[in-house]
Amino acid sequence: MPSIIYIISLIIFLSWSRNIIVSAETWCYDTVNPMDQDNPTPVRCPAVTEKSDNIYHDVGINPGASTNMFDISFTCDPTTSQTTCDKAKESFEKAGEIFTSVLSLNTPIRINASLIPLSDDTTLGSAAPARLIPLKCKDKKIRNFPQSLVKQFQFSTHPEYAAVDIVAVFNSKCNFYFEGDPTITPDQIGFLELIVHEIVHGLGLVTNWKPLLNSKPVSELTSALNLTSNSDSTQPVVYYGFIETIFDSFIVTNAGDKFSNFTEQLNDFTPYGTKFQDQSAFISAFINSPEYNISQMVLSYSQTAYSMVFLADPHSELVWLESNINPYSKGSSISHFSMEIYDNTTDFLMTYIQHPGRSLETALQQNNATCIIGPKLLYLLETIGYATPNNPNPQKPSLIEFHSTKSKTTSWKNSNTTTTTTTTTTDTNDTITTTDSQTTTKPTTSSLFSSTESIIFNNNYGWINLVISLSVGGLFFASGGWIF
Ligand SMILES: [Zn+2]
Repeated sequence: MPSIIYIISLIIFLSWSRNIIVSAETWCYDTVNPMDQDNPTPVRCPAVTEKSDNIYHDVGINPGASTNMFDISFTCDPTTSQTTCDKAKESFEKAGEIFTSVLSLNTPIRINASLIPLSDDTTLGSAAPARLIPLKCKDKKIRNFPQSLVKQFQFSTHPEYAAVDIVAVFNSKCNFYFEGDPTITPDQIGFLELIVHEIVHGLGLVTNWKPLLNSKPVSELTSALNLTSNSDSTQPVVYYGFIETIFDSFIVTNAGDKFSNFTEQLNDFTPYGTKFQDQSAFISAFINSPEYNISQMVLSYSQTAYSMVFLADPHSELVWLESNINPYSKGSSISHFSMEIYDNTTDFLMTYIQHPGRSLETALQQNNATCIIGPKLLYLLETIGYATPNNPNPQKPSLIEFHSTKSKTTSWKNSNTTTTTTTTTTDTNDTITTTDSQTTTKPTTSSLFSSTESIIFNNNYGWINLVISLSVGGLFFASGGWIF
């Protein structure tokens, strides 16, 4: 009876297509307050398709079409004088022009910057990517990219963006020197140098190597841990691996060992999706695992002079990273250029200490530099993916494809017409494993499905999944010659 076959097939098809559509979603990591970068918030960032008029093609084609590709949303503390607020705003404009002159930006970068009183009097300021977005690199590994860089790749469909690319705060309690002020006093901090330094962090000079769950005292460093967060640390948690930033992927030891390999080894800890009774149970299991030794070794590298190097493409330039602070100092170690090596060079900008009483003009003169963005810093930015006039085609990652392997176990019960099928979908991304059990009707044709199916689909194109499902279904029905 065609109608019965049709119904049977429809049930099977619908259940199958549902399984295809069930897919992991991309998780991004947001930082709202750059003073609290230890705990970026995991957020779902589903694929969205850019309207064609939102893609800034013409700027890249005509370099120099804009002198400032930075869009600054600036908030100034009301107790700060209008004159100071205006100078600070001008400094941001100048910083935007500097980056625009050295990078070939094709899409504007939005910064949310504030000059406000910070509780910690010793902190000058801080900045971070507002959103870290996972993308797949050429070596097939998934890494976190800063949103400002992802925008330059101009994906027509991409994980959803946050409203701004970089968040930055600066301490209005500090005694800042602004370009054009009378002579700088010994206790003043050059504001322009400070904000250019911080914007570099926001553009992607950020590491995911951090103490595990903010442990104190620090006894290990791991790449960012994906553990389902819960405000109540006594609740069960699920582990989804460790992930590094694109910056981290170019770090090697002084012996040439890649830190990416350490991240890979950490990911051998336990399968993604493993549940733990609570956060303490996770920590206990990790500390007792062989992978813990890796995390201790990384901590040791981070506080041993000349042991961490950023290997910049394409010239294999070595950029020695800050590993000379012992004990490890969060926010200073790893994510800066070595103070000892670069403090008095053209790459003075990204050391972790800014000299008070030194204007940018003086810093450039003293270090025989023509630009605040030094040559090694420019290599670093090119290496993580920013185009420049000298390197117009940097490596471009791709969107994450979720490889869904469905192992279907089918056990027909004699001549019964129903069976229970268990389908386990495991995504290679660090996100979700789902198990789905359902009862379906026994098909009358044994060749409808093989016992094991491997379906590859791109999670970032959910609508394509649906179209493929429908097409297969259509062919499926058509092959049976049914008319309905
Ligand atoms: Zn810094």
